Amino acid sequence: MLIDGYGRPWLKLRIVVDDTCNYRCIFCHFEGQARFQGSKLSAEDIGFVAEAAMELGVEDFKITGGEPLLRRDIVDVVDAISRLGPKDLSMTTNGYLLDVYAKDLLSHGLMRLNVSLHSLDPRKYKFITGVDALDRVLENLDYVSSLGFKQVKINMVVLRGLNTDEIPMMIRYASKYGFTLQLIELMPMGDGFPIFSRYYDDLSDVITWLNRHGKLLGTRKDLHNRPIYEVDGVRVEIVKNYNNPTFCAGCTTMRLTSDGKLKTCLYKEPVVDLLPYIKARDKEGLKKAMVFANSLRKPNFVEGVSGGLGSVRIRVRLDKLTL
Ligand code: SAM
Repeated sequence: MLIDGYGRPWLKLRIVVDDTCNYRCIFCHFEGQARFQGSKLSAEDIGFVAEAAMELGVEDFKITGGEPLLRRDIVDVVDAISRLGPKDLSMTTNGYLLDVYAKDLLSHGLMRLNVSLHSLDPRKYKFITGVDALDRVLENLDYVSSLGFKQVKINMVVLRGLNTDEIPMMIRYASKYGFTLQLIELMPMGDGFPIFSRYYDDLSDVITWLNRHGKLLGTRKDLHNRPIYEVDGVRVEIVKNYNNPTFCAGCTTMRLTSDGKLKTCLYKEPVVDLLPYIKARDKEGLKKAMVFANSLRKPNFVEGVSGGLGSVRIRVRLDKLTL
């Protein structure tokens, strides 16, 4: 297992399998990568990276995008990772195409699903995502609920004055299906940056409400020290990332961009280009590059030091120029 200079193990790899999306979420952070890089990795390439990462101690893989279900070979991507026998393999999706792919994803080894659902109100859902598709996604969630995934988690980005009032309703909805609810603090990244001051909610009221209506079960030591609550039988995870040294102290993740680069943190630029090693099937070179990247990992938010968002500001301006 690799440990970085801050005592944090590298256990998880978040894989951005494409950078196109059928949604236009008002806050999208694009997984912290520059826009329009394309998807340069085949399913076999992704399997090769996962194998090298597992040899270095990585246990869990998260497939994300863009929208991962827009990749026609997404089942092959899942297959390429699952046949290596990881401890965990999950996917974050907007859920729009789950009716097409969910069964095959499950039978090829996908263990868990995160489905983004930021509102149960059709008008707000459309405003937030740019797509009039709430009914379709709810139907798809109903469908996947009985397929046998180990866990289905609802990802809800909390937006002040827009969907905060829906949290109790979302808990009731999750309870009906046995879903987990993940409440995510808005990050000032990508399209999340210009709307940050308008919609940012530091979750303190939400946490007060959870303490009153539920109970704190503990924290996820394996991932960002996230607090876990239980409310009316629903597991509620809090992803409070912004300006939060505790969150960064528990970071066990690196990210593979859709063009084959490794990022040590959502907020940081990529540190190594893995593409040449991947395409040459140079496992030793690839592992050395990963070890080097791990040595550069450091917490973005540290106690007593105000947040490192300088590079984010620059990225947003460049994005606006190139759009
Ligand atoms: N297209 C897929 C989806 O919508 O779930 C996967 C990609 S999306 C970038 C991955 C997750 O990041 C989603 O749950 C999304 O809601 C969340 N997300 C995107 N931008 C965010 C931001 N600025 N702050 C917090 N979470 C964000």
